Amino acid sequence: MHVTSKRQTTGAPIWPGFDHPEFDGHEKIVFGHDAATGLYTVIAIHDTRLGPALGGCRMWPYQNTDEALTDALRLSRGMTYKNALAGLDYGGGKAVIIADPKLHKTPELMRAFGKKVDALGGLYITGEDVGLTPADMEMIGGATEHVRGTAQNHRGDPSPYTALGVYNGIQSALMHKFGSPDLHGRKVSIQGLGNVGFTLARFLHHAGADLVVSDINQNSVDRAIDAFGATSVDPADAHKVDADIFAPCALGAGLNSVTIPQLGAPIIAGSANNQLAEPGNGQALAARGILYAPDYVINAGGVIALAKHDVKDEVLEADVRQIGETLKTIFERADAENAPTDVVADRIAEERLSAVGKQS
Ligand code: NAD
Repeated sequence: MHVTSKRQTTGAPIWPGFDHPEFDGHEKIVFGHDAATGLYTVIAIHDTRLGPALGGCRMWPYQNTDEALTDALRLSRGMTYKNALAGLDYGGGKAVIIADPKLHKTPELMRAFGKKVDALGGLYITGEDVGLTPADMEMIGGATEHVRGTAQNHRGDPSPYTALGVYNGIQSALMHKFGSPDLHGRKVSIQGLGNVGFTLARFLHHAGADLVVSDINQNSVDRAIDAFGATSVDPADAHKVDADIFAPCALGAGLNSVTIPQLGAPIIAGSANNQLAEPGNGQALAARGILYAPDYVINAGGVIALAKHDVKDEVLEADVRQIGETLKTIFERADAENAPTDVVADRIAEERLSAVGKQS
């Protein structure tokens, strides 16, 4: 059993009621346990004003209940904003399972989690996140219909749609900054050549951009050099490249008080989640005249693909391309209101949410 009885009885702080620092008016928080399979899960439903809460499930060896709860509360709130700005009729939710995916994952555990989701009757729809795979979605799907990313309910890996959204977001940022979305001769520094970064590199290369690529995995860098005639840079220096666009597509918190003064590009537009390390970082970018495409807006292509699993490809692609239009609105309002783009994005999401009545 991966959560020891010792931890349960003596352990870390648990749910301190509505005073938890990450509690933000969440509508429902479920602590789920199944003794037979060793399941310990927290499902946080932040806001369902726009529709059922849609957000993935993360399996992670959290050290204690509070770490897991903190992640579930924070991530579910993030999904409310992301889904709202993506124009989806879905609210925000997220689940976490306290377990090491390499050691503790079993089909029975996944099905037990599916039952917990099912018991919510569709208020929460789950999907893949860190630590889970499409095969796990199948197991979960054996116990509930409220899941996305199964063979029955599947468009495949959503990352190409994430990359498409980032590509459109980059064009929107170029238009705003330089008056043209044309990528010919534009230099883009891409940090991270994984599922999203590599596909983005392909789109940009075909549009005529010059690529400077970086990844901790040298094979990926070599592939990009071969396929796109890219040049490479040490991943730690990717943000310093004298380029038109810096596209962070690896880890979060890459924009912080150390890296912001070092940035070499006037546009930041990439897929990485939680790019700003601290709330004031958006203001610091604006003060330097750097146009920042808020991460949760530009990287929403994947969740749009999950939400719109039943529409035709061309409809979905058109919806993903709307990310460019949403960013245009954010950039223009940021100028008009003299506010950082991340703050404006939050404002627009809150406006959409407050325009609908609270459901219960
Ligand atoms: P991935 O795991 O396929 O790729 C990440 C890549 O980053 C890997 O190639 C890895 O070697 C590289 N990397 C790791 N540390 C690095 C470092 N310090 N410097 C440079 N490269 C480094 O992940 P992905 O699916 O391509 O997602 C990339 C980012 O976009 C993540 O932050 C993810 O949360 C976010 N995102 C992805 C999706 C999606 O649809 N996959 C959707 C929304 C957001």
